Amino acid sequence: MRFVPRFTDGQEFPHALGKIVCVGRNYADHARELDNPVPSEPLLFIKPATCAVPLEEPIDAPFTRGEVHYETELALLIGEELSHATADEAERAIVGIGLGLDLTLRDLQTRLKEKGHPWETSKAFDGACPLSVFLALSQVPNWSALAFTLEIDGEPHQRGEGADMLFSVPTLVAEMSRHFTLQPGDVVLTGTPAGVGPLPRGAQLHFTLTGGLEVTTRVVE
Ligand code: ZN
Repeated sequence: MRFVPRFTDGQEFPHALGKIVCVGRNYADHARELDNPVPSEPLLFIKPATCAVPLEEPIDAPFTRGEVHYETELALLIGEELSHATADEAERAIVGIGLGLDLTLRDLQTRLKEKGHPWETSKAFDGACPLSVFLALSQVPNWSALAFTLEIDGEPHQRGEGADMLFSVPTLVAEMSRHFTLQPGDVVLTGTPAGVGPLPRGAQLHFTLTGGLEVTTRVVE
């Protein structure tokens, strides 16, 4: 089943989901917690559309293949084609913001990194990107004032703020468009703040995003 992005008012975006373009380290505190150097240019990778599932539905993942880590990230819905865009053009092409989970088979990723191999099998499996509905951009304050949170069984685990991003939203999307043409229906994940960890089976997850988005979901037993 193909994932179609939707807005909070229930309206469907007129394009099916395309690729999901992600950035590896966009918050200094998360780079430090995984012992990674803070990058001088964004470390980009892509998840295919087959990763996407609705965040509102119970989250299943390949738990038999080692630790599955959650990474809560601000998600941007792209509404116009972008190639070698300026930061202004990139900013104007964003039509919605929401939340996504960049699910990662962390043990597998660590083994692949040690061998210098690509990460795909640890990050691009089916279901590896639960995505929320999107707030229309008019509901959103400026980028640096955005904040999002994740609580697991009522305990705070992650908090991300636009002001703490190493690469701001317009700069990041413009940089992505220098490497890959972005098309309507593509989604950009903007990196995770500190606080990542294994997804606990059976747990309840509660997400909030500035502008009025709240999602409660659970992890399958
Ligand atoms: Zn991530």
